[in-house]
Amino acid sequence: MVLADLGRKINSALADLNKAPVIDEKVLDGMLKEICGALLASDVNVQLVQRLRTNIKAAVNVQDVGAGINKKRLVQKTVMDELCNLVDPGAEPYKPVKGRANIIMMVGLQGAGKTTTCTKLAYHYQRKGWKTALVCSDTFRAGAFDQLKQNATKAKIPYYGSYTETDPVAIAMEGVDKFRAEKFDIIIVDTSGRHKQESELFEEMKQIAAGIEPDSSIFVMDGTIGQAAEGQARAFKEAADFGSIIITKMDGHAKGGGAISAVAATQSPIIFIGTGEHLHDLDRFEARPFVRKMLGMGDMSDFVEKVQDLQLDQNKNLMKNLEAGQYSLRDMYEQFQQISKMGPLSKLMGSIPGMPADMLAGSEEEGSKRMKRMMCIMDSMNDAELDSDSSLFYSQPTRVIRVARGSGTSVHEVEEILSQYKRFQGMVKTMGGKDGLLKNMPSDP
Ligand code: GDP
Repeated sequence: MVLADLGRKINSALADLNKAPVIDEKVLDGMLKEICGALLASDVNVQLVQRLRTNIKAAVNVQDVGAGINKKRLVQKTVMDELCNLVDPGAEPYKPVKGRANIIMMVGLQGAGKTTTCTKLAYHYQRKGWKTALVCSDTFRAGAFDQLKQNATKAKIPYYGSYTETDPVAIAMEGVDKFRAEKFDIIIVDTSGRHKQESELFEEMKQIAAGIEPDSSIFVMDGTIGQAAEGQARAFKEAADFGSIIITKMDGHAKGGGAISAVAATQSPIIFIGTGEHLHDLDRFEARPFVRKMLGMGDMSDFVEKVQDLQLDQNKNLMKNLEAGQYSLRDMYEQFQQISKMGPLSKLMGSIPGMPADMLAGSEEEGSKRMKRMMCIMDSMNDAELDSDSSLFYSQPTRVIRVARGSGTSVHEVEEILSQYKRFQGMVKTMGGKDGLLKNMPSDP
């Protein structure tokens, strides 16, 4: 079961609560059965599912809950909290420190997406202003250095490796020493993912770690491996004692459950998930936003970060307006313009809370066409209309007809845009303002 299906199943079990006139033992058991069934079908470890079930039952003792308390909300909140606990071991991941070299060692099996993830992570830090470099210490696989070199060149990230040196420990140490001397902030070391024998692989990892003394080791795991994830994560934890996890290939048919079990097995936090083959396909992972998104509830902080990543400093006005909680039709238009320059559209749109599913439906190309059509309709609006909060259209409905005619579309389509805008505007109001999310965004690593 892919994550979106899991989210839908859990959502529908929760929604069934609203249909029930009273929440009694039977209704609660029915809901738990559906949720647990969905988690098991997603490969979540059976003991974890059992624990979640017991915890929810204990927290929501239907007999004990006083009449004054809204039982449905309590059940929903408890389910949400327990789902978050499932993916959050409560351990703090390593945070790079300014003013010195932070050495990050990446471990994981060949094919997991380790080399790709090294570059994605380096690219992530580089965009956040850290001076970042890559070191390839995989001497086992022919072509490993070439692959890293290619990726690094594309992302304009300095790299180190060798075609002739066969000792991975020597290369790793040389690379780290070189970049440390050049005052790099973050040095990411890629390691081999395969050997003739697993024991050799683990031995090599230990030697490299002893040589470079990493500040943090990250285990890169393929999100599509289902139940096998747990055993693999345990083995790597024992050998490399990694501090955190990146789960890759969560864009395809990943059954999130395997990854979730792995987290619980190693008590290590997931810090990012890979969502595609390209450089920017790396999403920060945090338990609550992740669960909210999985349940189709959208996530504000994700959206805010993506907006910031759009380098809106090119568009300072928009950022200022967003922060003030103000948002005109023109702001929406300009945002569309920015987004269409950015790609991949669906990723960004998907992180916008309230974005209707039909906007996201279909291929990347269809989504992009739909947005261009909206922009084309807005091209027929005049300045006063664009700078308004759309109230002009409601006080003078003939304007809607004029825009529809001008753009060769229908009144219905123009109205769709206006209601879309209303949704965005509502969202911006909650994000902006004195206590809004935009004001409270951490200047994170
Ligand atoms: P390594 O052997 O662990 O270094 O793995 P690679 O970095 O060579 O990746 C193996 C394959 O997985 C490549 O084809 C990558 O493009 C692909 N890959 C890596 N990460 C992701 C991801 O998040 N999503 C998808 N769809 N493919 C990925």
